[in-house]
Amino acid sequence: MKAQVFRGVNQLSYEEIPTPEIAADEVLVQVKVVGLCQSDIKKIRYPLYEPPRIFGHETAGTIAQVGAEVEGWQVGDRVVVLHHIPCMHCAYCLSDNFSMCNVYKNITTTAGFAPSGGGFAEYVKVPGHIVQNGGLMHIPDGITFEQASFVEPTNCCLKAVKKAQIQPGQTVLVTGAGPIGLMFIMLVKYFGARAIATDLLPSRIDKALAVGAEAAFDARDPDLVAKVHALTGGLGVDTSLLAVPSEKAFFQALDCTRKGGKILFFAEFPDEVEIPINPNILYRREIDLMGSYSSSYRVQQLAADIVFHRRIDVDALISDRYPLKELANAVEQAVAPTPETYKILIYPEMEA
Ligand SMILES: [Zn+2]
Ligand SMILES: [Zn+2]
Repeated sequence: MKAQVFRGVNQLSYEEIPTPEIAADEVLVQVKVVGLCQSDIKKIRYPLYEPPRIFGHETAGTIAQVGAEVEGWQVGDRVVVLHHIPCMHCAYCLSDNFSMCNVYKNITTTAGFAPSGGGFAEYVKVPGHIVQNGGLMHIPDGITFEQASFVEPTNCCLKAVKKAQIQPGQTVLVTGAGPIGLMFIMLVKYFGARAIATDLLPSRIDKALAVGAEAAFDARDPDLVAKVHALTGGLGVDTSLLAVPSEKAFFQALDCTRKGGKILFFAEFPDEVEIPINPNILYRREIDLMGSYSSSYRVQQLAADIVFHRRIDVDALISDRYPLKELANAVEQAVAPTPETYKILIYPEMEA
């Protein structure tokens, strides 16, 4: 089969490799669509993991082979593949902090080499632990593979929205209106709250409004804080969701967030970044800082329901489609987005 093998920093190699062989408790999935995620881009562009590996984890496809002992799944079933599942009994899992679980962090779906997701290949192997614990989900009739590939990023954003306890009637600042920021806007709206977005690109500001932001501003607008206060009765927003790794965006969020409000770090910053802050700002204004990384097992069903019942319009997030063969070009585009670049999807079967 064909796969995009990570051979070193910024070295993706489109290779013929053996199709994974499955054990009795495993399932082989033919990849139809896989989303290109910011985390894939980081893994490809920075020396975080030893090569060779095959990344890609926002995977939707068709079951191609079922191990002899696997029950409940048939060849031909359309599925979403989750690339990691928590153990459910460690201290983290018992406190619903699944993304800190060591079993969860240890990704096991693979297309070959050290298991790393494996979505950037024609076939991916799903191990028994994942098959048995809810890591395969049926895609309902009428839902495309493209739409289904959004279940994982929806879960990650949903987890953050839940963690920040966003409530109906609240107002939320979303900094950055790329694919993640736009999804936040949609989810904030779905939860009955109002979203105010910022970005640097006029096209993304327009897009934010198109997907449901109540207001959207240029992040460089000198009156941004005043405008946000004007929209919130002088209070400031209840919560800020940081969907860009920008120190400036953080301080803007701090100025825009009401007393007693929350600021949630979603975008991963470069490791060398440090943000100096006077702790009394947090103390006197009782601002909660929080982080949300990856997805939650607890909201998986809701994430799937939101996508499968079209509670948010994931199609509106798709901007580009690339054949697997051209993954490197897709990464380039994601790193240097055009004004119209949002979510990029990858297709093993598409003609180059
Ligand atoms: Zn992802
Ligand atoms: Zn655990």
